[in-house]
Amino acid sequence: MLVSITVVSTCGTYFYVKQNTKEAPSKELLVMTSCNPTYLATLNVAKDADGVMVQNLSQPSTGCLHDYTLTTEDMKNLSKADVLVINGAGMEGYLEDVVKAYPKLPIIDSSEGLDVENSHVWMSEDLYQAQVKNIAAGLSKIDSGNAATYQESAERYCNIVAGRVDKQGLDEDLAGANVAILHEAFEYTADSLGANVVADMDLDEERQVSAGEVRDFIAIVQDENVKVVFAEYDYGNAMGKLITEQTDAKVVYLETLVHGDYSDMDYISILNKNYANIKNVL
Ligand SMILES: [Zn+2]
Repeated sequence: MLVSITVVSTCGTYFYVKQNTKEAPSKELLVMTSCNPTYLATLNVAKDADGVMVQNLSQPSTGCLHDYTLTTEDMKNLSKADVLVINGAGMEGYLEDVVKAYPKLPIIDSSEGLDVENSHVWMSEDLYQAQVKNIAAGLSKIDSGNAATYQESAERYCNIVAGRVDKQGLDEDLAGANVAILHEAFEYTADSLGANVVADMDLDEERQVSAGEVRDFIAIVQDENVKVVFAEYDYGNAMGKLITEQTDAKVVYLETLVHGDYSDMDYISILNKNYANIKNVL
């Protein structure tokens, strides 16, 4: 007897909950984002807005986004999305496929109108804040009811980024110093610290590096008295090892933020870890 009562009441509760939440999905604005840094920017713009959900497309398990193809799950999610926010600046190689499949899906290009050097725009704290403002402006147009919230949240988040990203005095230590990079994303890191990039090898994904390329790079590092080399571990560690063996330069491995755990303050904590790692090797 007791058992059957329990079952009935559980079913009843379940049915009641389902009925009650029925209206929610139709009111919700689903904002899809194309990659982790764009997700972090959008989340901070939209997290306090009513009825807005921010979701990221899948992340590549290794490497960057350039040659990434969307999964079937991604395409399914896009079919339900109200808007897609992209990094832009050529980062989303799959964009044409999305436009072809969903020609009516509004797209907010967070890099629109920005003076960019390469597609890893978010690595510059200044440009990242401009991306945040672009996203707020784009969302305000699509969802005008929440416009004030988007604008206020963007403003507040930019202040947090400006106030909490800690360059550890590196912008003085490395101002005017010669550095080298093994990933183009770190051009922004060097710029942000006022350092000169004198040698640049873009090891963003698996590729062959010729003996001549290695020799030339090492020669510049020696001749130009390069203090520190910024690299990404997965594709840069083999070259990094050669540099450490053959020159006096320090090699430091940094994050590019293309992978993350989706926690809202991840942008700040990752950049701070990067700067702390640079400080440690100097
Ligand atoms: Zn990349």
